[in-house]
Amino acid sequence: MSYLDKQDKKIADLIKKEEARQANGLEMIPSENHSSKAVREASGSILTDKYSEGYPGMRYYGGCEFVDKVENIARDRAKELFGVSHANVQPHSGSPANQAIYFALVDPGDTVMGMSLYFGGHMTHGLKVNFSGTYYNSVQYTTDKDGFMDYEAIHALASEHKPKMIMAGTTAYPRFIDWKKLRAIADDVGAWLVADISHISGLVVSGDHPSPAGIVDVIMTTTHKTLRGPRGAMILCNGNESNPLKKPERTKENLPSLIDRAVIPGLQGGPHNHQTAAIAVALGEALTPEFKEYGHQIAKNAKVLSEELMKLGFNLVTGGTDNHLMVVDMNNKNISGKEAEKALGLAGITVNKNTVPFDPRSPFDPSGIRLGTPALTTRSMKEPEMKRVAAWIDEAVKNYKDEKYLQGLHAEITKFSQDFPLPN
Ligand SMILES: *Cc1c(COP(=O)(O)O)cnc(C)c1O
Repeated sequence: MSYLDKQDKKIADLIKKEEARQANGLEMIPSENHSSKAVREASGSILTDKYSEGYPGMRYYGGCEFVDKVENIARDRAKELFGVSHANVQPHSGSPANQAIYFALVDPGDTVMGMSLYFGGHMTHGLKVNFSGTYYNSVQYTTDKDGFMDYEAIHALASEHKPKMIMAGTTAYPRFIDWKKLRAIADDVGAWLVADISHISGLVVSGDHPSPAGIVDVIMTTTHKTLRGPRGAMILCNGNESNPLKKPERTKENLPSLIDRAVIPGLQGGPHNHQTAAIAVALGEALTPEFKEYGHQIAKNAKVLSEELMKLGFNLVTGGTDNHLMVVDMNNKNISGKEAEKALGLAGITVNKNTVPFDPRSPFDPSGIRLGTPALTTRSMKEPEMKRVAAWIDEAVKNYKDEKYLQGLHAEITKFSQDFPLPN
């Protein structure tokens, strides 16, 4: 019996239920993954008790000799993995990391440009109700009618509005992003270019998605998606060695100082040292050859799953995928995204409803679903399993009104899942 069992049975039981839910079903939300026990051990460690505002070697608190070493290891591994000269591993998550980037590079009222959430962007890229669309003059780009990024349209919009910063990155976009084309656009209008690779950073590490390193000005990634670490985020860039104690000019050489000062004292207080340690462990895993294989397999699995779904008559936005995810337009199946999410959930397949480009329905009840392969691939599923998953998705959608049938399917999926345990 664990300490938690003894002390707080209510919470302990709920954690066990969640673990069983994950183990007995198929997690196909593409932003999710299963982290290793080593990552979770670091994340659950006594480092959570330590305050260390500042950066290694320049803290506002005593007793930081060990957390300094932890943070330096995390930074060094991040730099090696992504091929950059500076890494800030303190952002508590992706959204605060993006806030820090805005704070570092632009001023309130400045024009910024990003991809609309409804076309696959993220809310921190300028959604009206988000800080990014409230404090900044946000201009949003969409995709073309087939769901592809339209670089000519982005260029035209940028020329018209002259943004000071362009956010590039996606949460529901199944294709490669062309960083060089975006660089040319940013250079043409004199804008900072930020690559938010939260979803695809694991694929960037394995070489299955082109890397933005050396092309864009700043890279942001969460650590808990394809990168398979704890919740958290990192900001990466090149430039002169950081000196967070002195207010810098906004130049490319000063990017490391600009970013560090924006994270603290700009935005955050103490770093979450348990999280930093877990990020370091996850980055250690990501540096291994096994992780490269993992990234390749995520992409192979997504390819097979998308082809199987299309064979079954599913309509995939952009007609397929280059990465770990796909967006399925359910209109031709006469079922809404919300209904599909619910039916698949009852069958033990967790996905999320999602808008499709130029969605005729509302964002609260959109036409599509978004699904991906990172978590299933962590459980060692390969191409044959993807074919079975596609068939199950088809059956669940066909029988979406039949709760009994969906429960039967869940039992079958639970049985199948036992051969693919959550990772150690
Ligand atoms: C997930 C994500 C974020 C935000 O991360 P949180 O940790 O949820 O705050 C930001 N940008 C993109 C592109 C993402 O996919």
